[in-house]
Amino acid sequence: MTTPESASPTLPPFTRARALISARALRGNLKFLSGKAGVPLLWPMKANAYGHGVEAVAPVAAESEAVWGMAVATPAEALELSSVLHGLNCPKPVVLFGASFPDEWPALVAAGVQLTVSTYAEAAALPSGARAHLKVNTGMNRLGASPAEAVAVGRRLQERGQLAGVFSHFSEAEEADQTLSRQQFRTFQEVARHFPEALHHMGNSSAVLNLGPLPGMDLARPGLSSYGVMPSPGTPELTPAMTLQARITYLHTAAAGERVSYNGLTTLQRDTLIATLPIGYADGYPRRATGQAEVLLAGERRPVLGRVCMDQLMVDATGLDVSTGDWVTLWGQDAGGRELHVSEVAQWSEMAEYEILTRLSVRVERVAVP
Ligand SMILES: *Cc1c(COP(=O)(O)O)cnc(C)c1O
Repeated sequence: MTTPESASPTLPPFTRARALISARALRGNLKFLSGKAGVPLLWPMKANAYGHGVEAVAPVAAESEAVWGMAVATPAEALELSSVLHGLNCPKPVVLFGASFPDEWPALVAAGVQLTVSTYAEAAALPSGARAHLKVNTGMNRLGASPAEAVAVGRRLQERGQLAGVFSHFSEAEEADQTLSRQQFRTFQEVARHFPEALHHMGNSSAVLNLGPLPGMDLARPGLSSYGVMPSPGTPELTPAMTLQARITYLHTAAAGERVSYNGLTTLQRDTLIATLPIGYADGYPRRATGQAEVLLAGERRPVLGRVCMDQLMVDATGLDVSTGDWVTLWGQDAGGRELHVSEVAQWSEMAEYEILTRLSVRVERVAVP
């Protein structure tokens, strides 16, 4: 792990909070997951690469042999990612998982974005030069043609040489009981077998980790796990790629009996050195972690005092040798290698790891580290 200090020179001025994104961790996770699935990856990079920052992550996608292509959720994300990849001279395809409107197709097709198609009407109306992945609804009931209709939609695409892939999505692959997942997969295969020349893909993180290689698949699509995060019990082979940090802006001592932050949730039991950090819920640090949150400060776990504010939070720094300007780790790994897992933050705030990562705001500077 690269130390935060070595990343500092690349920071723009005025940075108060930063997310260090480890290329080494990403590379290792991608390699492990591709090995586990037995196929290359269609790497989900939606929602600003699960909060990690498309610009910080794209170079890893471009160079990793485990990555066949990348996927996003919205047309705007697809165009942004395409232009970043263009800048990297990366020819790997971008696939749009989400639905798109006909008036969005010309720009997407011009950028080489591969579309998702769910209906015969869409298939019949695609402009020439479009490439599409046929989505099959196997039980998620979000997008996709019904299994009964899907073959006709796929044939329509195939006739004009527009069928790039056939795919579906597991709705409950994280459950211990995999009966429904296996049924969904069989339903998918019934459709996919009609299109042997198209790329078949279905596995998300939970499927890759719980079911391993799925027969007949050409690609897998693990998202959260590729960033090194899985809900407990976790997977030891994965390394979290993000470390979130903020700098101490203010230090002062408050007396025993005083209260800290809004609404008096915390009354100090002793004279306390308070470190104020310029990060709060507007940056994406969850307000709901109030009362349970801890951070890594000067090599120790220290509690957040009182309510997490919009732009700041306060930490108990009593007895520590700290100065303003010091970096504090809110999740990830500190300079000494101590770990505070983002899953803990998720538990404190009763939120999913997916939410914690994707709600990190534009205020936080994403910094790629080797
Ligand atoms: C987000 C997404 C994935 C990745 O899911 P994870 O649970 O993050 O692995 C895969 N496929 C589709 C269609 C998705 O939208």
